Formats: sequence, structure tokens, C-alpha cells
Amino acid sequence: MIAVSTALLQQVISIPAARAVLRPRSRLAASVSSPRQLSVSSSSRAPQVDPNVLLGMSEQELQKLAVDLGQESYRGKQLHHLIYKRKVKEIDNFVQLPQAFRYDLQEAGWTVGRLPIYRTVTAADGTVKLLIKLDDNRLIETVGIPAEDKKGSKRLTACVSSQVGCPLRCSFCATGKGGFSRNLKRHEIIEQVLAIEDIFKHRVTNVVFMGMGEPMLNLKSVLEAHRCLNEDVQIGQRMITISTVGVPNTIKKLASHKLQSTLAVSLHAPNQKLRESIVPSAKSYPLAAIMKDCRDYFVETSRRVSFEYALLAGVNDQVEHAVELAKLLREWGRGHHVNLIPFNPIEGSDYQRPYKKAVLAFADALESREITVSIRQTRGLDASAACGQLRNEFQKSPLSVEANTLQSESDIAVAC
Ligand code: SAH
Repeated sequence: MIAVSTALLQQVISIPAARAVLRPRSRLAASVSSPRQLSVSSSSRAPQVDPNVLLGMSEQELQKLAVDLGQESYRGKQLHHLIYKRKVKEIDNFVQLPQAFRYDLQEAGWTVGRLPIYRTVTAADGTVKLLIKLDDNRLIETVGIPAEDKKGSKRLTACVSSQVGCPLRCSFCATGKGGFSRNLKRHEIIEQVLAIEDIFKHRVTNVVFMGMGEPMLNLKSVLEAHRCLNEDVQIGQRMITISTVGVPNTIKKLASHKLQSTLAVSLHAPNQKLRESIVPSAKSYPLAAIMKDCRDYFVETSRRVSFEYALLAGVNDQVEHAVELAKLLREWGRGHHVNLIPFNPIEGSDYQRPYKKAVLAFADALESREITVSIRQTRGLDASAACGQLRNEFQKSPLSVEANTLQSESDIAVAC
């Protein structure tokens, strides 16, 4: 998740140092449906916004709500302050508001929409994986990654999920293997950022849509959450990255919003044939079409596209692949960057992480052809929180009642 120069590449040794380990429960046989089946399933068409959830609403909408409930509009501004600045989680605790207003909000069925943290797992490097419990008892994973930049200022990146599970079965990704149940609503996405701020007692500075799920299959909620994170939670657009493996027509749509955020495209191969063998959904979106849409995104937004490339030993990590990738990128013009991600091991996968030497040779082959490249530093490996390792057995089936006890706030590991 964190891009570093090749010189800074670190091999992360997996040490079983998680402070609070999530005990694996018996594996639920979760059959994975095909993307086509899922695109018409009723669960993925569930409403994207809970009608009575305050989290996700803009200041203007909150002002209108206050007026609709017979209050003056400045009460809406107060609501905004309480939700996004003070981060108050319950209407009962909006003590600055008149009791009658709080009562009316509750009577009308409004809630703040904050969600409980079910578990946290802290890796030796300070990365924290959080499991957040949704109202339908499903769990989603989100990861907080603390880092310090060269000048010593602290950065806290939230790697957020956009779906419960993922319907696109990229062969090397754990999330797809766990199945898919539904899209996240906007407040469920925003919650992940606020929960990370709670745990770290620090503002989130960067957001990457690189957790569970394919953001472009839930673009409406992702864009609504993006608006809120930018305008209400006050995270700069340039600090937000939306990562996609490619869903036809959605890059164009995203470009039309002219966001100042980074589009990251998970390429993983320099040609269509190899890409299809790694990413099954590539069949419906040829490489040439993706590259054209990315070029248009750059033209429309002036934001360079970041191409992610998971390096799988002996599959796509040869220098000849790098040479072919450089050629492909040069054909499509400027305005790009390659982010190499050495494969993070997942259960039940035969893929291997390449040796550091192979990673560096791949990066050199790109650099010598004037392609800007970074190698992602692996974070959170021992908490299974690194890229592609996010998976929980409740993404397909909700928690059973007996498993439904929350970890108390005081037990939550705090890392910073
Ligand atoms: N669906 C989005 C977000 C996925 S996760 C997408 O595909 O872009 C973010 C990145 O991690 C993607 O580039 C994804 O391909 C990569 N990734 C997934 N599993 C991985 C693994 N086991 N090792 C390394 N990278 C992985």
C-alpha cells in the first residue's frame, strides 16, 4: 500500500506477533458466484443509502433535515459539527442540541450510523486490521497503516473496503476466494475511516480503496463516500486513491466527475492472454480498451494513472514481461506510474512471492525504459492485512448469534 523507492525495498519477515489474534472459526463453505450472476443478484441491488442514517450527509442536507423537523437551519450545522468534528456516535449524546430535537430525530427513525469494531489485529509494524460489524451481522475488514514521511511528519493511511467480499475472482487475491454478499452503503465506507481515527487517535491522512471488493462495482456509494470524506471529514482529494481491476464503462464515468484523486488500475500483466489467466474478469474488458480509458482519464483529470502490478514468481515477473509492459505503456502515452506489489502469500494459493532480486530486476527494466516505478513496501503481513490478504469467513454468511459478542473498547489494541 505504501509506495517506496526501489532502494527502500524491505523484505518483511513474517513474525507471529499479532497482539490480538482473531481466532479462525470453522471455515464456512462459501461458494463463489460468477461476476455475471452477481451483477443481477438482488443483494447487490440493495439500497445504497440507509434512508435514516446521518453519517454521509452533507452540511446542506443536515440543515434541510433540521428545518424539516421544525428547527432553525443552524441546528443542521451543529449536527454536522457533532458528527464529523466531535465524532459523537449516538443521538442521545448530542447534548448541545435541544432534547426535543434529539427526540424528534429518534422518533423519525434517525441514527448516526456509526458501527462497532468487532476485533482488531495489530501487526509487528504497527499496521492494524479492524473488523467492523455491519447491521446485518456481516464483518468487513479495514486496515490502518501508520507511516512517517522523510520530513518526519506522520501519515495514517486507511485501506478501505467497498464491498462485503468481492465477486471478481482474481486468482491471487484472498477476498475473492471468500465469496461476495453485497455492496457497502456509503456510511459503512465512511465508518472505516472514522474507526481507524478512533483506534490510532490520529487523523487519517490518506484513503485507498484497496480493501475488500471492487470499488467500480459500487461506484455510487464510493463516490458519495468520497464526497463526504473530502468535504466533511476533510481529507484532500489528492490523498484518496480508487483502485480497480477494470469494470467496463466505469473509468469513463469516474473521469467525468473530474476528481483530483488517483485512479489505480490493477494490470498485473503486459498482454491480454497472460492477464486473462490471472484475472478472470479481464475477458470482458480487453487490455487495449482499459489503456484507452486510462489515457482518457489522464487527459480529463491531469492526474497520472497508477498501474498496479502484483509480481507472481515465474508467472509475470520476468524481465521480458517488464520490457513488454514498458512498450505497452509507452504506446499509450505519458501520465502513468507503475506500482509493483510482490505477491503476498494467501492460503490455498500456489503462487510464490518472487525473490527480491527478481523484483529489482523487473523495476530496473522499467526504469531504464523511462517508466516511473515504485515497489510497494509490504505492511501488515503478520496480521494478514497486506494487499490481497483481506478475507474473513463472515463475508458470505453473517455471524451466528452465539459468536455475536463484541470486543469491548478497552480491549482494543492501540497502535501509533
Ligand atoms: N478490486 C480492487 C482493489 C483490490 S486490492 C483492485 O483490483 O484494484 C488492491 C491491490 O492489491 C490490487 O492491485 C490487487 O490486485 C492487489 N492484490 C490482491 N491480492 C494480492 C496479493 N495476494 N498479493 C499482492 N497484491 C495483491
